[in-house]
Amino acid sequence: ISDINTTGFNSGQLRALNWINSGTKKLFIDGKWVDAQSGKTFATENPATEQVLSEVSEAGETDIDKAVAAARQAFESAAWSGISPHQRARYLMQIADAIESHGDELASIESYDTGVPYTASRQRIPHIAETFRYYAGWVSKLYGTTNPSDDSRFIYMLREPMGVCALINAWNVPLGMAATKIAPALACGNTAVFKPAEQAPLSVLRLTELIHESGLPAGVLNVVPGLGPIAGAAMSAHTGIDKIAFTGSTVVGRHVLQSAANNMKKVSLELGGKSPNIIFPDADLDSAIAASVVSFCRNSGQICSSGTRLFVHNEIYDMVVEQVCSVAEQYKVGQPFEADTQLGPLISRRQMDRVLSYVQEGTREGARLRLGGHRVGDVGYFVTPTIFSHVKNEMKIAQEEIFGPVLSIIPFSNESEVILKSNDSIYGLAAAVWTRDASRAQRVSRALKAGRVWINTYGDADPGMSIGGYKQSGIGREYGAESIDAYTQTKSVLMKF
Ligand code: NAD
Repeated sequence: ISDINTTGFNSGQLRALNWINSGTKKLFIDGKWVDAQSGKTFATENPATEQVLSEVSEAGETDIDKAVAAARQAFESAAWSGISPHQRARYLMQIADAIESHGDELASIESYDTGVPYTASRQRIPHIAETFRYYAGWVSKLYGTTNPSDDSRFIYMLREPMGVCALINAWNVPLGMAATKIAPALACGNTAVFKPAEQAPLSVLRLTELIHESGLPAGVLNVVPGLGPIAGAAMSAHTGIDKIAFTGSTVVGRHVLQSAANNMKKVSLELGGKSPNIIFPDADLDSAIAASVVSFCRNSGQICSSGTRLFVHNEIYDMVVEQVCSVAEQYKVGQPFEADTQLGPLISRRQMDRVLSYVQEGTREGARLRLGGHRVGDVGYFVTPTIFSHVKNEMKIAQEEIFGPVLSIIPFSNESEVILKSNDSIYGLAAAVWTRDASRAQRVSRALKAGRVWINTYGDADPGMSIGGYKQSGIGREYGAESIDAYTQTKSVLMKF
């Protein structure tokens, strides 16, 4: 990056610039930084300026083979499987400390690569460090069980790692999603081959350097940036891999599931969403309206659990539509490093074109465009907060995941109707309900088919709280104790005296 005014930058932000400018980024295999066997690289772009940020080595099939072999060797070696759980936990704690002490730098790299406002990337750092600490705490508590039996037999169950795990992620929250996979996978004693998304691999590559500095044995974590249809496909089909954890679109998730079947890999999938956010007339409307705007504008709408279908009761519909529009209108679309920016650019031209085509589709389908719906400026992939009212749940804009700052506001007249409409979707990732009636909050949250439900809030998270999909939003869960289940298998043993 050149031509940047660095006045007011802190030392971490300056280090980030130096690091990005420090040449082609490599693959990390068996504890070493290496070029791709083919010598190929791909470019990662700054979506705010449309300029190339950095060249990154592009892993091909041979590189994936090498990374899997290194992970296998590390898994079988005493250097990893032979160490005490307390030492394993210490590695994770050290990684958490390194993330915190390099917070400004990591957040800056992520903001250059994804376009996410720096203030938002920076705010996520403590949660990312906490995720490593949370799983470090699990390491010494991966208990098995004993079964009741008679005096002649002893029956017990061991909890063991899966082996070599392939971890594949989307680009929208690179460090956060890396933590949700790497921390539990290593905590449970697995080794891993991790592929960041090609659109934004940089922050995870810098994190990998920090993990390397923590002294983690060679081969335990291998990081192979590359293209989905090549490196990702090679990982999904690789017979040397025991488990695959994938985050991305439902379409690609289906391919991953099919290729993983060849050697019966254990599979977990975190996929798309079209989450309902329901406001009843008795809700605290100021809070509901403010949170509803955050929920579809955060990360410029590029969050799997965005509240993109806002269901509002008829009694308050017109008033809520007006207020949601007037709050969203104040949101600032701008450069990621300006302190008051709330929406940075979308990740790519392709994503921007896709979002704008949905805006056209919504208008064509007869929804009323109330706010935005256009690009901002002609450099960078900036799009305004966009709101449609009078949307019917069966319209495309209410059924398909847009992955941009586009909200569909849908009216409803009673509880059973809104439950039916909310659940009328192929997705089931998240949902929210706003009401002061605790009984209704319980009834509705139980009836919603979603892996995570918020009551009188939207988007709050905790490493102990799982997320995952009902229906086509995925298989399995991430975060919480359920990630421990996802990265371990049990063995029951019967000993006869
Ligand atoms: P994507 O499916 O295009 O890509 C995700 C990852 O899969 C990338 O690393 C990509 O390189 C890889 N990939 C692509 N083709 C592949 C193939 N044939 N085999 C194996 N890997 C392949 O998704 P995206 O556009 O990067 O991300 C957006 C999607 O991710 C949205 O649908 C969003 O909802 C979803 N997402 C879900 C969660 C969740 O927790 N449920 C979190 C974040 C994002």
